Amino acid sequence: MPNYPSAVVQSGGTKTGPMYPTLEDAYGRRFQYLRLSVTEACNFRCNYCLPNGYQSSHKPLPLNQVEIETLLQAFAALGTQKVRLTGGEPGIRRDLDKLISMCKSTSGIQKVALTTNGYNLKHKIPIWKQAGLDAINVSVDSLDPVQFAQITGHDILPKVLSGIDRAIELGYSNIKINAVLLQQFNLNQLERFIDWVKHMPVTVRFIELMETGDNRVFFRENRITGESIKSHLLEQGWTEKLKDRLGGPAKEFSHPDYAGNIGLIMPYSKDFCNSCNRLRVSSEGKLHLCLFGDSQVDLRPYLLQGDVVGTIRAIRQSLPDKKSGHFLNDGFTGSTRHLASIGG
Ligand code: SAM
Ligand code: SF4
Repeated sequence: MPNYPSAVVQSGGTKTGPMYPTLEDAYGRRFQYLRLSVTEACNFRCNYCLPNGYQSSHKPLPLNQVEIETLLQAFAALGTQKVRLTGGEPGIRRDLDKLISMCKSTSGIQKVALTTNGYNLKHKIPIWKQAGLDAINVSVDSLDPVQFAQITGHDILPKVLSGIDRAIELGYSNIKINAVLLQQFNLNQLERFIDWVKHMPVTVRFIELMETGDNRVFFRENRITGESIKSHLLEQGWTEKLKDRLGGPAKEFSHPDYAGNIGLIMPYSKDFCNSCNRLRVSSEGKLHLCLFGDSQVDLRPYLLQGDVVGTIRAIRQSLPDKKSGHFLNDGFTGSTRHLASIGG
């Protein structure tokens, strides 16, 4: 059982809300959103992320449930309202339902979301829903089964799509579909995805391919800018939507004739980092102030001790080091070899 700070612990064992000011950095950005990687292992081999599959040699074990409970208490005390569980592939963690319900029962955390490749969505979504999962992002890089298999290494597009259908049946109303458009592989899917959302009530978000330490040549050969997609959408009568309070840097577009929406995530655009609202913790307990940075703060020593106060202090002390932006446009990818290591 984590040791709560006296300000957060209360009589009768009940916890009250945040006792510290919400985390804010030197640029006035507030951080109420935690992206927590629960494993860096993945069963897919996406060609832009882990083309040779996950290599597991001598890695520390991912945070266990007790460590995660301590981490959640610390972030909640600092004003975190939304937690996204990601990976690697979070769906391969057997205790994912327990982690979801742990997030959900942490005082102050209002929304629990998951980013998954959809591999076991269809049979696990009822359990995850029962555990309290509020929102899901599913990565689908192509609606063409052959192309999907070529990109991900798994010929299972129908299974992923039926998982999405199942989630809709269960009442998930704004499922987000992540697609990375790649010049040499799936650019022809742009129109197909737009047609798909005519009747499919989901938001398809095109993520600009990001350069990482491991994909430099692939990046140069496959990069497509979100701006070109934006012009195309505006010409077709799509309009940009207002952002919600806990929303991130994605731009979303709607159209009166379409059941779903289109989103663009453009990390290379000029003001992308101005609306940064998230902090990241890797599966081994390292706090990353930016997806692309050199320095991480190791929270695990505090988590191992169940030390909520020490975790809070370490998070607060590190925040002044958060830079105004990434330096991706200069080809600087920090120590990020691939996004599976921190969760994208
Ligand atoms: N395995 C899960 C999945 O694929 O949804 C969660 C982790 S994955 C790293 C999270 C997201 O990052 C996915 O939508 C994936 O497409 C995206 N991603 C991975 N590498 C990327 C890259 N180099 N550039 C842009 N997006 C990337
Ligand atoms: Fe795995 Fe997600 Fe990376 Fe694909 S994008 S290899 S599913 S972590």
